[in-house]
Amino acid sequence: MLTNLQARDVATVLHPYSNLATLPEQGTLILERGQGVFVHDVDGKPYIEGMAGLWCNSLGHGREELVEAAAEQMRRLPFAHLFTGKSHDPAIALAEKLKEIAPMEAAKVFFCSSGSEANDTQMKLVWYVNNALGRPRKKKIISRIKAYHGVTIASASLTGLPNNHIDFDLPLSSVRHAACPHHWRFAHEGESEAEFSARLAAELDAQIEAEGPETVAAFIAEPVMGAGGVIVPPEGYFAAIQPVLEKHEIMLIADEVICGFGRLGEWFGSSVLGMTPDTVSVAKALTSSYVPLGAVIIPDWIDDALKAQSAKIGVFGHGFTYSGHPVAAAVALKTLEIYEREDVFSHVRAIIPQFQRRLKALADHPIVGEARGIGLVGAVELVADKRTKRSFDARRAAAAKAVALAQDEGLIVRAIGEAVSICPPLVISEAEIDELFDRLARALDRAEEWATREGAR
Ligand code: PMP
Repeated sequence: MLTNLQARDVATVLHPYSNLATLPEQGTLILERGQGVFVHDVDGKPYIEGMAGLWCNSLGHGREELVEAAAEQMRRLPFAHLFTGKSHDPAIALAEKLKEIAPMEAAKVFFCSSGSEANDTQMKLVWYVNNALGRPRKKKIISRIKAYHGVTIASASLTGLPNNHIDFDLPLSSVRHAACPHHWRFAHEGESEAEFSARLAAELDAQIEAEGPETVAAFIAEPVMGAGGVIVPPEGYFAAIQPVLEKHEIMLIADEVICGFGRLGEWFGSSVLGMTPDTVSVAKALTSSYVPLGAVIIPDWIDDALKAQSAKIGVFGHGFTYSGHPVAAAVALKTLEIYEREDVFSHVRAIIPQFQRRLKALADHPIVGEARGIGLVGAVELVADKRTKRSFDARRAAAAKAVALAQDEGLIVRAIGEAVSICPPLVISEAEIDELFDRLARALDRAEEWATREGAR
Protein backbone atom coordinates (compact mmCIF):
# COMPACT_ATOMS: atom_id res chain seq x y z
CA MET A 1 0.00 0.00 0.00
CA LEU A 2 1.43 3.35 -1.01
CA THR A 3 1.27 6.32 1.30
CA ASN A 4 -0.46 9.43 0.06
CA LEU A 5 2.88 11.09 -0.73
CA GLN A 6 4.13 8.00 -2.56
CA ALA A 7 0.93 7.88 -4.60
CA ARG A 8 1.27 11.57 -5.53
CA ASP A 9 4.92 10.92 -6.42
CA VAL A 10 4.38 8.02 -8.80
CA ALA A 11 1.38 9.76 -10.32
CA THR A 12 3.33 12.87 -11.28
CA VAL A 13 7.12 12.54 -11.21
CA LEU A 14 8.78 10.85 -14.18
CA HIS A 15 11.56 9.05 -12.37
CA PRO A 16 15.01 8.73 -13.92
CA TYR A 17 16.64 5.30 -13.97
CA SER A 18 13.59 3.45 -12.68
CA ASN A 19 11.41 0.65 -13.92
CA LEU A 20 8.43 2.80 -14.87
CA ALA A 21 6.18 -0.25 -15.12
CA THR A 22 6.74 -1.54 -11.57
CA LEU A 23 7.42 1.71 -9.72
CA PRO A 24 3.73 2.60 -9.32
CA GLU A 25 3.23 -0.59 -7.23
CA GLN A 26 6.55 -0.48 -5.40
CA GLY A 27 6.50 3.19 -4.50
CA THR A 28 9.57 5.28 -3.74
CA LEU A 29 11.72 5.93 -0.68
CA ILE A 30 10.95 9.56 0.11
CA LEU A 31 13.72 11.34 1.97
CA GLU A 32 13.20 14.41 4.10
CA ARG A 33 16.45 15.49 5.71
CA GLY A 34 20.05 14.53 6.26
CA GLN A 35 22.88 14.99 8.71
CA GLY A 36 26.43 13.81 8.14
CA VAL A 37 26.37 10.41 6.43
CA PHE A 38 22.74 9.79 7.49
CA VAL A 39 19.52 10.59 5.67
CA HIS A 40 16.02 10.27 7.13
CA ASP A 41 12.86 9.32 5.31
CA VAL A 42 9.50 11.01 5.82
CA ASP A 43 8.69 8.57 8.64
CA GLY A 44 11.88 9.55 10.44
CA LYS A 45 13.75 6.30 9.74
CA PRO A 46 17.51 6.91 9.45
CA TYR A 47 19.70 5.34 6.77
CA ILE A 48 23.44 5.35 6.23
CA GLU A 49 23.85 6.99 2.82
CA GLY A 50 26.21 4.35 1.49
CA MET A 51 26.19 5.85 -2.01
CA ALA A 52 26.75 9.52 -1.10
CA GLY A 53 23.57 10.10 -3.14
CA LEU A 54 24.81 9.39 -6.64
CA TRP A 55 28.55 9.19 -5.83
CA CYS A 56 28.51 12.92 -5.19
CA ASN A 57 27.66 14.08 -1.67
CA SER A 58 31.29 14.00 -0.53
CA LEU A 59 31.02 16.14 2.60
CA GLY A 60 27.76 14.64 3.82
CA HIS A 61 24.66 16.55 4.81
CA GLY A 62 24.24 19.58 7.03
CA ARG A 63 27.33 21.60 6.08
CA GLU A 64 26.28 25.08 7.20
CA GLU A 65 29.31 26.67 5.56
CA LEU A 66 28.11 25.56 2.14
CA VAL A 67 24.63 26.87 2.86
CA GLU A 68 26.17 30.18 3.94
CA ALA A 69 28.38 30.38 0.84
CA ALA A 70 25.30 29.97 -1.36
CA ALA A 71 23.21 32.42 0.67
CA GLU A 72 25.94 35.03 0.74
CA GLN A 73 26.41 34.80 -3.03
CA MET A 74 22.65 34.91 -3.61
CA ARG A 75 22.43 38.09 -1.56
CA ARG A 76 25.35 39.73 -3.34
CA LEU A 77 24.90 38.61 -6.97
CA PRO A 78 22.55 35.64 -7.50
CA PHE A 79 23.09 35.52 -11.21
CA ALA A 80 25.58 36.73 -13.73
CA HIS A 81 26.92 35.01 -16.85
CA LEU A 82 30.14 34.64 -18.77
CA PHE A 83 28.83 35.34 -22.31
CA THR A 84 29.80 38.22 -24.57
CA GLY A 85 32.55 39.80 -22.51
CA LYS A 86 31.04 39.46 -19.01
CA SER A 87 32.41 37.75 -15.94
CA HIS A 88 32.24 37.57 -12.15
CA ASP A 89 34.69 36.86 -9.38
CA PRO A 90 33.46 33.41 -8.16
CA ALA A 91 33.96 31.96 -11.66
CA ILE A 92 37.40 33.55 -11.98
CA ALA A 93 38.58 32.30 -8.58
CA LEU A 94 37.20 28.80 -9.23
CA ALA A 95 38.83 28.55 -12.66
CA GLU A 96 42.15 29.58 -11.08
CA LYS A 97 41.79 26.96 -8.38
CA LEU A 98 40.87 24.16 -10.82
CA LYS A 99 43.86 25.08 -13.00
CA GLU A 100 46.11 24.87 -9.98
CA ILE A 101 44.96 21.39 -8.90
CA ALA A 102 44.33 19.86 -12.36
CA PRO A 103 46.08 16.54 -13.06
CA MET A 104 47.76 18.01 -16.14
CA GLU A 105 49.18 21.33 -17.38
CA ALA A 106 45.91 23.26 -17.63
CA ALA A 107 45.15 26.47 -19.50
CA LYS A 108 41.43 27.17 -19.17
CA VAL A 109 38.24 25.96 -17.52
CA PHE A 110 34.84 25.76 -19.22
CA PHE A 111 31.89 25.61 -16.83
CA CYS A 112 28.59 23.75 -17.19
CA SER A 113 26.06 22.21 -14.80
CA SER A 114 26.58 18.45 -14.93
CA GLY A 115 28.84 15.58 -15.84
CA SER A 116 26.79 14.93 -18.99
CA GLU A 117 27.19 18.52 -20.14
CA ALA A 118 30.91 18.32 -19.42
CA ASN A 119 31.32 15.23 -21.61
CA ASP A 120 29.02 16.65 -24.28
CA THR A 121 31.30 19.67 -24.32
CA GLN A 122 34.33 17.38 -24.56
CA MET A 123 32.93 15.78 -27.68
CA LYS A 124 32.08 19.13 -29.26
CA LEU A 125 35.56 20.44 -28.46
CA VAL A 126 37.17 17.38 -30.05
CA TRP A 127 35.23 17.99 -33.26
CA TYR A 128 35.66 21.76 -33.27
CA VAL A 129 39.36 21.65 -32.48
CA ASN A 130 40.11 19.04 -35.13
CA ASN A 131 38.36 21.21 -37.68
CA ALA A 132 40.40 24.16 -36.43
CA LEU A 133 43.60 22.11 -36.77
CA GLY A 134 42.74 21.14 -40.37
CA ARG A 135 42.03 17.48 -39.56
CA PRO A 136 38.34 17.26 -40.47
CA ARG A 137 38.44 13.44 -40.73
CA LYS A 138 39.84 12.92 -37.23
CA LYS A 139 36.53 12.83 -35.34
CA LYS A 140 35.81 9.41 -33.84
CA ILE A 141 35.85 8.96 -30.11
CA ILE A 142 36.56 5.61 -28.49
CA SER A 143 34.92 4.88 -25.17
CA ARG A 144 34.60 1.50 -23.46
CA ILE A 145 31.92 -1.09 -22.85
CA LYS A 146 30.37 -0.43 -19.40
CA ALA A 147 31.71 3.13 -19.30
CA TYR A 148 29.39 5.77 -17.88
CA HIS A 149 29.73 9.29 -19.21
CA GLY A 150 26.18 10.68 -18.96
CA VAL A 151 22.87 10.75 -20.77
CA THR A 152 22.79 13.67 -23.20
CA ILE A 153 22.94 12.58 -26.84
CA ALA A 154 26.73 12.78 -27.03
CA SER A 155 27.52 11.60 -23.51
CA ALA A 156 24.96 8.76 -23.65
CA SER A 157 26.68 7.67 -26.86
CA LEU A 158 29.98 7.56 -24.97
CA THR A 159 28.33 5.60 -22.17
CA GLY A 160 28.78 1.91 -22.89
CA LEU A 161 25.62 0.46 -21.33
CA PRO A 162 22.73 -1.02 -23.35
CA ASN A 163 19.96 0.73 -21.39
CA ASN A 164 21.31 4.11 -22.45
CA HIS A 165 21.32 3.17 -26.14
CA ILE A 166 18.43 0.78 -26.85
CA ASP A 167 15.48 2.59 -28.43
CA PHE A 168 17.15 5.98 -27.92
CA ASP A 169 18.67 5.47 -31.39
CA LEU A 170 22.15 5.78 -29.92
CA PRO A 171 25.14 5.73 -30.00
CA LEU A 172 26.04 8.43 -32.51
CA SER A 173 27.88 7.08 -35.53
CA SER A 174 31.23 8.62 -34.54
CA VAL A 175 31.48 6.71 -31.26
CA ARG A 176 33.17 3.33 -30.79
CA HIS A 177 33.43 1.16 -27.69
CA ALA A 178 36.57 -0.75 -26.76
CA ALA A 179 36.71 -3.73 -24.39
CA CYS A 180 35.80 -3.41 -20.73
CA PRO A 181 38.85 -3.81 -18.47
CA HIS A 182 37.17 -6.12 -15.95
CA HIS A 183 39.74 -8.78 -15.18
CA TRP A 184 37.55 -11.05 -13.03
CA ARG A 185 34.85 -11.23 -15.69
CA PHE A 186 36.71 -10.97 -18.98
CA ALA A 187 40.27 -12.25 -18.52
CA HIS A 188 41.16 -15.53 -20.19
CA GLU A 189 41.76 -18.58 -18.02
CA GLY A 190 45.08 -18.08 -16.18
CA GLU A 191 45.71 -14.60 -17.68
CA SER A 192 47.37 -12.26 -15.15
CA GLU A 193 46.18 -8.67 -14.73
CA ALA A 194 49.30 -7.38 -16.51
CA GLU A 195 48.77 -9.82 -19.39
CA PHE A 196 45.11 -8.82 -19.61
CA SER A 197 46.13 -5.13 -19.76
CA ALA A 198 48.65 -5.87 -22.51
CA ARG A 199 46.02 -7.79 -24.49
CA LEU A 200 43.48 -4.96 -24.18
CA ALA A 201 46.11 -2.47 -25.36
CA ALA A 202 46.90 -4.69 -28.37
CA GLU A 203 43.17 -5.02 -29.13
CA LEU A 204 42.76 -1.26 -28.91
CA ASP A 205 45.68 -0.80 -31.29
CA ALA A 206 44.06 -3.22 -33.74
CA GLN A 207 40.71 -1.48 -33.40
CA ILE A 208 42.29 1.91 -34.16
CA GLU A 209 44.16 0.46 -37.14
CA ALA A 210 40.91 -1.01 -38.46
CA GLU A 211 39.10 2.30 -38.10
CA GLY A 212 42.02 4.21 -39.62
CA PRO A 213 44.08 6.19 -37.08
CA GLU A 214 43.49 9.38 -39.07
CA THR A 215 39.79 9.09 -38.20
CA VAL A 216 40.15 8.55 -34.44
CA ALA A 217 40.45 11.70 -32.34
CA ALA A 218 40.02 10.80 -28.70
CA PHE A 219 39.75 8.08 -26.10
CA ILE A 220 37.63 8.77 -23.03
CA ALA A 221 37.93 6.89 -19.74
CA GLU A 222 36.98 7.08 -16.11
CA PRO A 223 40.01 6.24 -13.95
CA VAL A 224 37.74 3.72 -12.22
CA MET A 225 34.49 2.84 -13.99
CA GLY A 226 31.72 3.83 -11.61
CA ALA A 227 28.14 3.47 -12.76
CA GLY A 228 29.11 0.53 -14.99
CA GLY A 229 29.65 -1.45 -11.78
CA VAL A 230 32.80 -0.09 -10.06
CA ILE A 231 35.41 -1.68 -12.28
CA VAL A 232 38.97 -1.02 -11.18
CA PRO A 233 41.38 -1.24 -14.10
CA PRO A 234 43.80 -4.16 -13.98
CA GLU A 235 47.45 -3.65 -13.14
CA GLY A 236 49.30 -1.63 -15.78
CA TYR A 237 46.15 -0.83 -17.78
CA PHE A 238 46.66 2.87 -18.47
CA ALA A 239 50.41 2.38 -18.80
CA ALA A 240 49.65 -0.08 -21.61
CA ILE A 241 46.85 1.93 -23.25
CA GLN A 242 48.49 5.35 -23.31
CA PRO A 243 51.43 4.55 -25.65
CA VAL A 244 48.87 3.22 -28.16
CA LEU A 245 46.99 6.50 -28.02
CA GLU A 246 50.19 8.52 -28.33
CA LYS A 247 51.32 6.48 -31.31
CA HIS A 248 48.13 7.38 -33.18
CA GLU A 249 47.91 10.99 -31.92
CA ILE A 250 44.70 10.27 -30.05
CA MET A 251 43.96 12.51 -27.09
CA LEU A 252 42.98 11.12 -23.71
CA ILE A 253 39.93 12.54 -21.93
CA ALA A 254 39.73 11.69 -18.22
CA ASP A 255 36.19 11.56 -16.89
CA GLU A 256 36.83 12.46 -13.25
CA VAL A 257 33.16 12.99 -12.45
CA ILE A 258 33.23 10.28 -9.74
CA CYS A 259 36.95 9.86 -9.06
CA GLY A 260 37.73 13.58 -8.80
CA PHE A 261 38.05 15.34 -5.44
CA GLY A 262 39.27 12.71 -3.06
CA ARG A 263 37.35 9.53 -3.88
CA LEU A 264 40.65 7.67 -4.27
CA GLY A 265 42.44 9.72 -1.61
CA GLU A 266 43.94 12.32 -4.00
CA TRP A 267 42.51 15.31 -5.86
CA PHE A 268 42.12 13.20 -9.01
CA GLY A 269 41.83 9.50 -9.81
CA SER A 270 44.11 10.06 -12.84
CA SER A 271 47.15 10.48 -10.63
CA VAL A 272 46.27 7.34 -8.63
CA LEU A 273 45.78 5.18 -11.75
CA GLY A 274 48.73 6.57 -13.72
CA MET A 275 46.66 8.43 -16.33
CA THR A 276 48.10 11.51 -18.02
CA PRO A 277 45.04 13.05 -19.63
CA ASP A 278 44.87 15.87 -22.14
CA THR A 279 41.56 17.14 -20.79
CA VAL A 280 39.43 16.45 -17.74
CA SER A 281 35.69 16.44 -16.95
CA VAL A 282 34.56 17.12 -13.39
CA ALA A 283 31.21 17.55 -11.58
CA LYS A 284 29.57 15.94 -8.52
CA ALA A 285 32.01 16.39 -5.57
CA LEU A 286 33.16 19.71 -7.04
CA THR A 287 30.33 21.23 -4.98
CA SER A 288 29.80 18.22 -2.72
CA SER A 289 26.61 18.13 -4.85
CA TYR A 290 24.94 20.90 -2.83
CA VAL A 291 24.27 22.64 -6.15
CA PRO A 292 24.79 21.44 -9.73
CA LEU A 293 28.12 22.27 -11.36
CA GLY A 294 30.39 20.65 -13.92
CA ALA A 295 33.54 21.73 -15.70
CA VAL A 296 35.94 20.83 -18.49
CA ILE A 297 39.60 21.63 -17.94
CA ILE A 298 41.65 22.10 -21.12
CA PRO A 299 45.35 22.48 -21.97
CA ASP A 300 47.12 25.21 -23.95
CA TRP A 301 47.04 23.49 -27.32
CA ILE A 302 43.25 23.21 -27.26
CA ASP A 303 42.88 26.77 -26.03
CA ASP A 304 45.17 27.95 -28.86
CA ALA A 305 43.13 26.04 -31.43
CA LEU A 306 39.91 27.55 -30.08
CA LYS A 307 41.39 31.04 -30.30
CA ALA A 308 42.57 30.40 -33.85
CA GLN A 309 39.08 29.25 -34.81
CA SER A 310 37.53 32.38 -33.27
CA ALA A 311 40.00 34.53 -35.20
CA LYS A 312 38.74 32.84 -38.35
CA ILE A 313 34.99 32.50 -37.82
CA GLY A 314 34.19 34.87 -34.99
CA VAL A 315 32.45 33.71 -31.88
CA PHE A 316 33.06 30.43 -29.97
CA GLY A 317 29.46 29.24 -30.27
CA HIS A 318 29.15 27.11 -27.16
CA GLY A 319 27.98 27.91 -23.64
CA PHE A 320 25.09 27.46 -21.25
CA THR A 321 23.01 30.07 -19.43
CA TYR A 322 24.37 28.55 -16.25
CA SER A 323 28.01 28.23 -17.36
CA GLY A 324 29.82 29.31 -14.21
CA HIS A 325 26.68 30.13 -12.26
CA PRO A 326 27.93 32.37 -9.43
CA VAL A 327 26.08 30.50 -6.66
CA ALA A 328 27.43 27.15 -7.87
CA ALA A 329 30.93 28.61 -8.22
CA ALA A 330 30.78 30.07 -4.70
CA VAL A 331 29.70 26.71 -3.26
CA ALA A 332 32.46 24.94 -5.20
CA LEU A 333 35.08 27.35 -3.87
CA LYS A 334 33.87 26.71 -0.33
CA THR A 335 33.83 22.94 -0.93
CA LEU A 336 37.43 22.98 -2.18
CA GLU A 337 38.39 25.18 0.76
CA ILE A 338 36.89 22.63 3.17
CA TYR A 339 38.72 19.74 1.46
CA GLU A 340 41.99 21.55 2.12
CA ARG A 341 41.30 23.13 5.50
CA GLU A 342 39.96 19.91 7.04
CA ASP A 343 42.50 17.79 5.17
CA VAL A 344 39.61 15.58 4.03
CA PHE A 345 41.79 13.55 1.65
CA SER A 346 44.18 12.60 4.48
CA HIS A 347 41.13 11.34 6.35
CA VAL A 348 40.12 9.37 3.26
CA ARG A 349 43.61 7.86 2.95
CA ALA A 350 43.48 6.92 6.63
CA ILE A 351 40.15 5.08 6.37
CA ILE A 352 40.69 3.42 2.97
CA PRO A 353 42.42 0.33 4.46
CA GLN A 354 39.51 -0.34 6.81
CA PHE A 355 36.91 0.27 4.08
CA GLN A 356 38.72 -2.04 1.66
CA ARG A 357 39.30 -4.71 4.35
CA ARG A 358 35.60 -4.83 5.23
CA LEU A 359 34.64 -4.77 1.54
CA LYS A 360 37.05 -7.51 0.46
CA ALA A 361 35.98 -9.69 3.40
CA LEU A 362 32.58 -9.96 1.69
CA ALA A 363 34.25 -12.04 -1.04
CA ASP A 364 33.78 -15.01 1.31
CA HIS A 365 30.01 -14.61 1.30
CA PRO A 366 28.22 -17.52 -0.46
CA ILE A 367 26.46 -15.30 -3.02
CA VAL A 368 29.37 -12.89 -3.68
CA GLY A 369 31.50 -13.69 -6.72
CA GLU A 370 33.84 -10.73 -6.48
CA ALA A 371 34.33 -7.95 -3.93
CA ARG A 372 36.22 -5.20 -5.71
CA GLY A 373 37.16 -1.63 -5.06
CA ILE A 374 39.79 1.02 -4.60
CA GLY A 375 39.89 4.11 -2.44
CA LEU A 376 36.49 4.77 -0.95
CA VAL A 377 34.41 3.04 -3.62
CA GLY A 378 33.58 -0.58 -4.17
CA ALA A 379 31.09 -3.21 -5.25
CA VAL A 380 30.16 -6.79 -4.60
CA GLU A 381 29.11 -8.83 -7.62
CA LEU A 382 26.44 -11.36 -6.77
CA VAL A 383 26.55 -14.81 -8.31
CA ALA A 384 24.29 -17.84 -8.17
CA ASP A 385 27.34 -20.12 -8.36
CA LYS A 386 30.63 -18.95 -6.89
CA ARG A 387 32.77 -21.58 -8.58
CA THR A 388 31.58 -21.03 -12.16
CA LYS A 389 30.89 -17.28 -11.63
CA ARG A 390 27.40 -17.93 -13.01
CA SER A 391 25.17 -14.90 -12.45
CA PHE A 392 21.65 -15.09 -11.12
CA ASP A 393 18.96 -15.14 -13.78
CA ALA A 394 18.56 -11.43 -14.57
CA ARG A 395 14.78 -11.71 -14.08
CA ARG A 396 15.40 -12.50 -10.40
CA ALA A 397 17.01 -9.04 -10.00
CA ALA A 398 19.14 -10.42 -7.17
CA ALA A 399 21.21 -7.26 -6.66
CA ALA A 400 18.06 -5.15 -6.54
CA LYS A 401 16.68 -7.56 -3.94
CA ALA A 402 19.86 -7.22 -1.85
CA VAL A 403 19.62 -3.44 -2.12
CA ALA A 404 15.98 -3.52 -0.95
CA LEU A 405 16.99 -5.69 2.01
CA ALA A 406 19.85 -3.29 2.81
CA GLN A 407 17.32 -0.47 2.78
CA ASP A 408 15.27 -2.42 5.27
CA GLU A 409 18.43 -2.70 7.40
CA GLY A 410 18.89 1.10 7.23
CA LEU A 411 21.50 1.30 4.49
CA ILE A 412 21.31 2.90 1.07
CA VAL A 413 23.41 1.18 -1.59
CA ARG A 414 22.80 0.76 -5.31
CA ALA A 415 22.26 -2.14 -7.66
CA ILE A 416 24.08 -1.99 -10.99
CA GLY A 417 23.23 -5.09 -12.95
CA GLU A 418 24.35 -7.92 -10.67
CA ALA A 419 26.61 -5.69 -8.57
CA VAL A 420 25.82 -3.85 -5.36
CA SER A 421 27.85 -0.66 -5.23
CA ILE A 422 29.07 1.32 -2.23
CA CYS A 423 30.42 4.86 -2.30
CA PRO A 424 29.96 6.63 1.05
CA PRO A 425 30.60 10.30 1.80
CA LEU A 426 34.33 11.01 2.17
CA VAL A 427 33.78 12.17 5.75
CA ILE A 428 32.49 8.80 6.98
CA SER A 429 34.06 7.68 10.28
CA GLU A 430 35.60 4.28 11.06
CA ALA A 431 32.65 3.41 13.31
CA GLU A 432 30.22 4.33 10.52
CA ILE A 433 32.17 2.19 8.03
CA ASP A 434 31.81 -0.77 10.39
CA GLU A 435 28.10 -0.09 10.78
CA LEU A 436 27.71 0.21 6.99
CA PHE A 437 29.33 -3.18 6.36
CA ASP A 438 27.50 -4.84 9.28
CA ARG A 439 24.22 -3.77 7.71
CA LEU A 440 25.34 -4.83 4.22
CA ALA A 441 26.44 -8.25 5.51
CA ARG A 442 23.02 -8.75 7.14
CA ALA A 443 21.32 -7.79 3.87
CA LEU A 444 23.49 -10.26 1.92
CA ASP A 445 22.66 -13.03 4.42
CA ARG A 446 18.98 -12.29 3.94
CA ALA A 447 19.45 -12.19 0.14
CA GLU A 448 21.08 -15.60 0.30
CA GLU A 449 18.13 -16.97 2.30
CA TRP A 450 15.77 -15.44 -0.25
CA ALA A 451 17.70 -16.94 -3.18
CA THR A 452 17.65 -20.39 -1.59
CA ARG A 453 13.97 -20.10 -0.68
CA GLU A 454 13.06 -18.98 -4.22
CA GLY A 455 15.20 -21.64 -5.83
CA ALA A 456 17.16 -18.87 -7.57
CA ARG A 457 20.51 -20.62 -7.14
N1 PMP B 1 30.57 10.76 -15.89
C1 PMP B 1 30.61 9.91 -14.86
C2 PMP B 1 31.88 9.15 -14.60
C3 PMP B 1 29.49 9.75 -14.04
O1 PMP B 1 29.54 8.89 -13.03
C4 PMP B 1 28.34 10.50 -14.30
C5 PMP B 1 27.10 10.38 -13.45
N2 PMP B 1 26.98 9.28 -12.65
C6 PMP B 1 28.34 11.35 -15.40
C7 PMP B 1 29.48 11.47 -16.16
C8 PMP B 1 27.14 12.14 -15.75
O2 PMP B 1 26.94 13.13 -14.83
P1 PMP B 1 25.50 13.83 -14.66
O3 PMP B 1 24.58 12.79 -14.15
O4 PMP B 1 25.81 14.93 -13.68
O5 PMP B 1 25.12 14.35 -15.98
